[in-house]
Amino acid sequence: MIVMERVRNKNQNYDAWLHWNVSSQCNFSCDYCFGKTSPNGTSIFSIDSIKLMNTLHDTGKIFRISFTGGEPFLIPNIIETSQQITKKHFISFNTNLVSPKIQEFSKVIFPERVLNIHASLHFNELIDKKLLSRFIENFHLLNSRDFNIYAEAIADPADLEKIDYYRSLMLKEGIKFTFAPFYGKHKNKFYPQSYTSEEMKLFSISSEHIEAFNQKGSKCIAGFNAAVVSPKGNISPCFQIQQPLGNIYESITFNENTLYCPSNNCACPLNYYDSYLFNKSKS
Ligand code: SF4
Ligand code: SF4
Repeated sequence: MIVMERVRNKNQNYDAWLHWNVSSQCNFSCDYCFGKTSPNGTSIFSIDSIKLMNTLHDTGKIFRISFTGGEPFLIPNIIETSQQITKKHFISFNTNLVSPKIQEFSKVIFPERVLNIHASLHFNELIDKKLLSRFIENFHLLNSRDFNIYAEAIADPADLEKIDYYRSLMLKEGIKFTFAPFYGKHKNKFYPQSYTSEEMKLFSISSEHIEAFNQKGSKCIAGFNAAVVSPKGNISPCFQIQQPLGNIYESITFNENTLYCPSNNCACPLNYYDSYLFNKSKS
């Protein structure tokens, strides 16, 4: 999912970003998901926070570690690990925000060490699983404790007729949200490039959003000061470039230079995800 960068406080400075697909398991089954495996796929591992902290320390850098998945709050020791990391580094989350662990998280983690919490609003699953009230409760809790939280739903072309209903539902609960472009195939059409201008207007998505997925030939910081991490800790520049850069439990070796995007499609354009680090690569 493309996430436009959110406001960063001036004292939230870091040198590098690891986007960690920390678990490919999830308690939801969204039709448009590309980040999870089947329930019988990979297991959910606890994070070895001692090895993790040693690896980060050895680089001499301050990190932003963003947890995504799957659902990161399924990791048994996600809160303890977050506590360890935030003593020195920063974290961020992509989460469906229904975990009962959110309560404890809100009490023990300092909001200023959390760059943002991207609360994914998966309406169909939230309604089917009767978890919308949990989402709303957790959202208000984190917001009231000064976490930089925002809600975003997928502009799923299959849900066009429900847009007004979703908007009125959340307006009633005092939660603003935006739609992020759907990345995938629907009725034999590829998205986001197949949205009509009428659909873009209904979802309030701009052509800038759509163009962000088209990065071929553009400069990118993947592998230079940003990288993705697999559930088992293997590090590579991005989901499309699988060059090994180490393992989060052993060592990390970033490339010495930025690169020019070789991929026809990018699901994670880093100049949009983290313009702060992107601009840092120029200095
Ligand atoms: S909540 Fe996210 S990870 Fe889970 S099924 Fe839905 S899109 Fe996939
Ligand atoms: S696909 Fe291209 S633009 Fe996207 S992160 Fe990888 S190198 Fe960067």
